Order: sequence, then structure tokens, then C-alpha cells
Amino acid sequence: MSDTQAPVHTSNGDEHRRKASTAVNGSDTHDRALVLHPSSQSNGITSRLRSVFVAASLAIILTPLSLIWPGIQPPLDPSNYSERARRILKSTPLIDGHNDLPWQLRVELHNRLYDSKADLETKLLGHTDLVRLREGMVGGQFWSVYVDCDVNQKHFEDPSWVVRDTLEQIDVTKRFVNEHPRHLMYCQTPSCVRKSFKMGKTASMIGIEGGHQVGGSIASIRQVFNLGARYITMTHNCDNAFGTAASTVAAGNQDVGLFKLGYSAVKEMNRLGMIIDLSHVSHQTMRDILSVARTPVIFSHSGAYSVGKHLRNAPDDVLRSMKQNGGVVMATFVNKFLKPDSPDTASVHDVIDHILHIADLCGWECVGIGSDFSGMPHAPKGLEDVSKFPNLIEALLERGVTDEQIKLLVGENLLRVWGEIEKKAKHFQASGESPVEDEYEGRGWHMGEAGDPWMLRESADTRVPKDAEGLSAVIQGRGSFPAVKNV
Ligand SMILES: [Zn+2]
Repeated sequence: MSDTQAPVHTSNGDEHRRKASTAVNGSDTHDRALVLHPSSQSNGITSRLRSVFVAASLAIILTPLSLIWPGIQPPLDPSNYSERARRILKSTPLIDGHNDLPWQLRVELHNRLYDSKADLETKLLGHTDLVRLREGMVGGQFWSVYVDCDVNQKHFEDPSWVVRDTLEQIDVTKRFVNEHPRHLMYCQTPSCVRKSFKMGKTASMIGIEGGHQVGGSIASIRQVFNLGARYITMTHNCDNAFGTAASTVAAGNQDVGLFKLGYSAVKEMNRLGMIIDLSHVSHQTMRDILSVARTPVIFSHSGAYSVGKHLRNAPDDVLRSMKQNGGVVMATFVNKFLKPDSPDTASVHDVIDHILHIADLCGWECVGIGSDFSGMPHAPKGLEDVSKFPNLIEALLERGVTDEQIKLLVGENLLRVWGEIEKKAKHFQASGESPVEDEYEGRGWHMGEAGDPWMLRESADTRVPKDAEGLSAVIQGRGSFPAVKNV
């Protein structure tokens, strides 16, 4: 789900629009190094006609050959952006970092898939169904198993439905994927994504959108990993036992960054091979995590703060750190993050402005796509639903981004990052690193009863007598917000 926080407005002017135009014109040295506009390589009409003639001649020769050897493709007119986009998406899986369809399954169907009126294999309202997913040539999708922050939970020890509901969302997402084997394939590894793509299916992965969804428990991180979740967004729109959320800072509170337990969570997620997601966290939390992460990290659905001054976006220093980290920033389509000053006018070109800025500071090895379809109320013009991903690719080509750069953007970067995380996790585990057992400060524990078969003398000596009602479930301690910041 996208934020409910008020956008942070500043007078950023039209800097990003200027940047877009320099990228097209090639008049900015740095942008010129980043993007190659096909037409900028020709010398006027004569050479343009020559290249069309050559392309046409080759097409006449190679088209029959391509019928015999399907691997051979006839050359393309470089300005045939739609066909170029189609070829890219046929050869490289487009992997979207964030889609909230499981939330729709929860709120509209109450997670009842088998007797519902919603046939996902037909065109529905909203942003997502399987028909449009196929039209959009989506090769891989991280489905978000989001549930809300519990506003009534004032202390970490307060009972809440959050972890239960998260388990239900993992369950319904897996059942949804298994219910549509013609379209979807459940995946927990990057190699599975490539296999699924070859089979013509959308690889389906699970991402958890907020540390609140594991109840501030590192043991729970291990268990949701075992259940198949492959990324956790460290916060959603509330602080949790791990760190400060962007929404907290947007509301005028101090940016305390990553909490002490957050450092332990990062260590354990690295050991496990759980992808760490920095979308939704505060800018200081981003910096703190990047200072200690031992693997690449991702932003599953965020933009660039210099282009859209909303605290959900990554500032320039973080983008530079991401280059060092080797991670990937998956550009989001959320209007108010794209254009905080005039979200209603956001279009596919604003997404590209964010992508170009991220690539400018962090490199083309650092960019990805994280739409937030089905989790945002309004989508940008030209990217109205999941069928429209090819529009983004065409518009990138029109603006001079190369086929190779786009292949990195749509999926190769994410697959590389995920593969590195997997590899490093294997290394940490093989080197004997133990699972982390840290907990938040003030964690309470059951004290036991007088008649328990104690293992330790000290336990027997501190046993708790039953109270007047015969109860002995004494819980001591209440972890409270804000958690302790590590120095
Ligand atoms: Zn979100």
C-alpha cells in the first residue's frame, strides 16, 4: 500500500523536467554518457535513408531465415519503439517490485477465492488481473502481503492481529498463485524466475510491507522466510521495533533512524538471504541500514527525492551510497511521489525522470521498476494499469535509453542483486554464523509456575506463585515506542 501521509512540498521547480529534456537533446554531458538516442547517431536525412534501406534489405534476406531458425530476428527500424519494447520484454523478464492485489483479495473477497464472483482470468476493475498482466508482459511480480499498522498497539507487548493477518495474506497469495497455474508460477529463487519466464508465466514472489508485520520479532523474520517471503520493507507508515518510518518524519517528528534491534534484524536478514527493502523508511534509517548491510539492498517502490521532494523518495546521498552497496532502486508509479506539487498531472514521463536521475547518480546497474499497482488510488497517465508496462519501455526508448540499459532496468538488476544476496547468505551460513536471538528492550517473558519441572535451580528459586484466580501467566516488561536508538 502506498502512504497515507501528507506529501512534503518544497519549491523544486521544474528541475526534473529540464533534466528530461537534456537527456533527449543530449546537451548535458552526463546525460549523454548515460543515454544514446538512436537518431543522434545519424547524420541527417541521407544516412537515415541509408540505414532504413540497409534494414529493409536485411529484413528481406533474414525474414525467411527467421522462419527456419526462430532464434534469428530480422533487424528493426530503431524508431519502431513498440517492436523494440516487445523484443526486450520477450528476452528479459520484467520484474515489478510491488503490487497490492493480495490486499484487494482480503478486503473485497475476504480471502475466499473459490466461491467468489471475481474471476481474475477476466478483465476486472482496478489495476490488476491476469488478462492485463499478460498484456503487460510482466515476467515476475512481487506480491505484497501488506496489512495495516495497528494504531491501538501502544507497546510492543500489546496483543495485535497484525502477525495473524500477515500469515493469512501469505496464505491467500500462495493459494491465488496456485489457482492460476496457466498464468503464474510461485517462486522463491531468482533461478525459478528465469525458469518461469521461459515457460511463459509470471513468476510470483512474496514481499512483506513493514517490520510491524513480524511483530518486532527476529524469530518471526526467520519463520516468514521459511514460509516463502523474500523481502521485508523495514517499516511501513509507522515506526516499529526496527526503525523510524518516513511518515513519522513527515509528521514532524525526529528522524531517529534505525533502532538497536533494527541492526540485529539487518544482520539476520543478511544471514538468511531475506532481501532488505528501504522503501517507506526514513532517510536516516536508509543511511543507517546502508552503513551496516553486508549484502545489496533494494527499494521495492520509491523514487528520487531530488526529482519529487517527498520523504518516501531516496535523497541523492542515499542514491550514491546505493551505488557502493550494489543494490537496486525500483522506481514507483505513485503520483504523489512522482510529482508532489501536482500529482494529478503525473505521467509515464515523470517515472522516466525519476529513473534517469537514479541512473545518473547510481548507474544503470541500480535501477528497477516497482509500480505499487493496486495499492495506489491514481496511476500516472500512460501507466494506468499492469497492461501498460510496455508503454514505459517505449517511452524510455524514445528518450534514448538503450536496449541494454532497459534490460538492466526491467529485471536483470533485480535478478543480479537477489542472486548475490542468496550467495552471500549461503556463505554466512556455511561459515557458522548463528541465528540472531536479540529482542527489543523491555521484552516480557512468561515467568512460569511453582509446580513446573524446572531445568535450573535459579528458575525454581524465582518461581511465581499463582494469584487468587489461579493464574500465573505473569508477563514482565513492555517494549515501548520509540525503541532505543543504537549509538
Ligand atoms: Zn507502500
